[in-house]
Amino acid sequence: MLEDKEGNVLKKVYLDSASTYLKNWKIIKEVIGELEEIDANPHSNHTMGKTIKGKIEKVRKQIAEYINCNYEDIFFVSGGTEGNNMVFNYILNKYASRIANGESFDILTSNMEHESVLSSLERLKESGFNIIYVDSDKYGRVDIEDLKKKLSSKTVLVSIMAANNETGVMNDIKKIGEIISKYNKLRETEDRVLFHSDCVQVFGKKKIDVEEMKLDYITVSFHKIGGLNSSGIIYARDKKMIPILLGGNQESGMKSGTVDALAIIVAGRILEDIVENDIHSKVRELRKYLEIKLKESKIEYEINCNDGLKEDEYLDEIASIYLKNIDIQSAITILDANGIYISGGSACSSGNILHSKVIEKIYDEERAKHSIRIGIGGYNTFEDIDRIISSLEKIEEKRKNK
Ligand code: PLP
Repeated sequence: MLEDKEGNVLKKVYLDSASTYLKNWKIIKEVIGELEEIDANPHSNHTMGKTIKGKIEKVRKQIAEYINCNYEDIFFVSGGTEGNNMVFNYILNKYASRIANGESFDILTSNMEHESVLSSLERLKESGFNIIYVDSDKYGRVDIEDLKKKLSSKTVLVSIMAANNETGVMNDIKKIGEIISKYNKLRETEDRVLFHSDCVQVFGKKKIDVEEMKLDYITVSFHKIGGLNSSGIIYARDKKMIPILLGGNQESGMKSGTVDALAIIVAGRILEDIVENDIHSKVRELRKYLEIKLKESKIEYEINCNDGLKEDEYLDEIASIYLKNIDIQSAITILDANGIYISGGSACSSGNILHSKVIEKIYDEERAKHSIRIGIGGYNTFEDIDRIISSLEKIEEKRKNK
């Protein structure tokens, strides 16, 4: 139990939803209770198996309706990393023999993407693809004019994230989809440019309409909305995919292995809760409150990549804040000791406090070393915001008096 100097118990303040959203334990426990009664392999042909399978298919249809696609094009996978890898694996297999025969193919992306995209594309580069990075604007968004310039008859895939995991800034996916679609209509070769978007940070927070956005693939992770780890979906229009794992042909043969019924049913209930209880409006209020409190405070700060953006151009859930007088090493360590949990950059397997590579690319290393990421969730309260602001104020005061 965490206590302050006077011995009062301190409530934990979790403000790291972009790393992982706090699990919705109420829903998870409810679903566990239900599944205890009908536990079976969802691929079994008996009544119990069919009952669970029915629940899984209901979630598939629910998600299809939510993102406006054919439900048969949704596949349950282990999350964002696997989904992203599956897209690139398909492209690799589709073009490998033609590359071996001397043809040349481009993949357009941005250097703001998540590591699961950047490192997978590095591997495709080793296999002979040209990986072309589209320029970014001052917000870290894809520069649309540069994208148009770089699209060519050699382009086979465009992979652009819907919102950045370190800044919350959104790309104009609808506009990019329109450009690719127009380009495909003019194109003389039979290879269509496919469009993939890593929607891990956006799903459940902002609208995704794969028809309107003309997307061929999206990847989603359920732990970013309060679901279980290692669960998510890949949407693949017309099932343009090949399996990485072979075996029992589950998920229409695209992902063999028994599906995780608990994780899928939980995700369905969470999505229902997000929509019915308008969780996003609550987060919006918290974000506005954070910005008001920062302005009223004595902290010297700037919100990274935010100045001049409209409300629908960034996620309320993610605020990257440049603290002029405080470095992230000390901020995160002191906040942690006070029961307040945030990040510097993206979550990292080593457990070290790392600065954001994205902020470094948009600004510079010094600014990145002074930038923290606050991740808000529907479970946070105004009191949580008060706690982090007053703690940051105290840290700032101490630095000034040193
Ligand atoms: N893409 C983005 C934008 C992310 O933020 C993350 C997780 O941090 C991932 C992909 C990876 O998702 P997962 O943890 O489900 O593999």
